Amino acid sequence: MNSQLRHLPQIDTLLQQPHVASLVATYSHDEVRRALRETLDQLRRDIRGGGVVDLPDFASEPFAHSLVDRIKAGRQPNLRPVINATGIIIHTNLGRARLAPEALQAMDQIAARPSNLELNLKTGKRGSRYDHAEALICQLTGAEAALIVNNCAAAVVLALMGTAAGRKVIASRGELIEIGGSFRLPDVIAQSGAELKEVGATNKTRLSDYADAVDEDTAVLLKSHTSNFRIVGFTSAPSRNDLAQLAAERDLILMEDLGSGVLIDLAPFGLRDEPVVADILKAGVDLVMFSGDKLLGGPQAGIIAGREDIIAGLRKHPLLRALRIDKLSLAALEATLRLYLPPHDPLARVPVLRALSQPLAEVESRAQRLAGSLAAVKGVDVEVMASAAYVGGGSLPQQDLDSFSVVVASAALPAETLADRLRGGMVPIVGRIHQGKLWLDMRTVTDDELPDIVAALGAIAAT
Ligand SMILES: *Cc1c(COP(=O)(O)O)cnc(C)c1O
Repeated sequence: MNSQLRHLPQIDTLLQQPHVASLVATYSHDEVRRALRETLDQLRRDIRGGGVVDLPDFASEPFAHSLVDRIKAGRQPNLRPVINATGIIIHTNLGRARLAPEALQAMDQIAARPSNLELNLKTGKRGSRYDHAEALICQLTGAEAALIVNNCAAAVVLALMGTAAGRKVIASRGELIEIGGSFRLPDVIAQSGAELKEVGATNKTRLSDYADAVDEDTAVLLKSHTSNFRIVGFTSAPSRNDLAQLAAERDLILMEDLGSGVLIDLAPFGLRDEPVVADILKAGVDLVMFSGDKLLGGPQAGIIAGREDIIAGLRKHPLLRALRIDKLSLAALEATLRLYLPPHDPLARVPVLRALSQPLAEVESRAQRLAGSLAAVKGVDVEVMASAAYVGGGSLPQQDLDSFSVVVASAALPAETLADRLRGGMVPIVGRIHQGKLWLDMRTVTDDELPDIVAALGAIAAT
């Protein structure tokens, strides 16, 4: 056995060392013991990994300090803020939409105090949590009625269960999507108790394909936004107007899973493929389902909007209780929706919309400022480069947004190691590696996050 391994002290011996023993007064005995065990485990791994390891002076004050650092790191919450420098605005792994200050304030108020969540203040009788934001959604989308649940996946499941359980749902083969891992539309339809009738081909589905498939068991025509892929070339699908007419003639419900769901036209920012919810309902779609935390820019939520009679049925569904939205998300959603109404300008107030509509010159200026601050950090090379940012969140897969990145390279560390260190810091920073370098995209970073990036790279360069 390696002699260094034999020379590692026992945990109980170390606990007797005065500097270590004094830590127990400030931190718990368990925490000090755990820090010692982790330190010794790390040393053992390093020794077994080969080479001679510089063993610390276990009796020294710096050694005790290193334990304190470990204990403090262990006290950090597991779920914590990170800096999104990926250039993907709605990043599902990074918690999707940032909330507006107004939404944060609303959550704060509702979290800290009792609220009228399910109390009608006029009558003093029981009220419904679903009433608080319904009128706002109707106003913003032109819908007759709306219902809010936990997320869009729940909205799709509830809508199908409530309208098509035991009956047939017709969907185009070009729209049988999978979203984020375990959400596959054919499986969701099956789980809701409905039977899927696939029509058409991957690239082409005609109105007659739908019409020919309708029988007396059919309840729903389901359209889905092919939000995370694109079929290009020789393609066609019937218009919403045509599908709506077919649905009306055959007494069916036309519903559409929009995924993202935008409330305002984003074409001026080069994003032309996301139809506005109000236009979809106007075209005759009976029910739409969309997310609260994608392009809407609010909290996790699923919104069902459309025909009053259908939504009245969904409100009575026994499973609604299991899918219901919680009060904090509801508070944030209501506050976010209000930012779409006068006197507000949603492009200026909703962070997701601000990130995607921010003029390129402002993004470049942020990149230049960061690069300027990093110029003083020894050992890192920085360069400002044009880059491509994305909306993300399963929306607009092909359309990128012009952006600028600060490209960081270290003489001492490969890009992967630099990326690992930045992710492992007190304020984790997530960038992307491209052409062997670490790119920090400035369209998804805010000005007030720049000092944290400078501090993190400074700390890494100093070690
Ligand atoms: C993202 C998405 C969903 C799921 O939305 P969640 O809010 O994550 O549940 C459903 N359908 C489509 C088309 C989507 O893009």
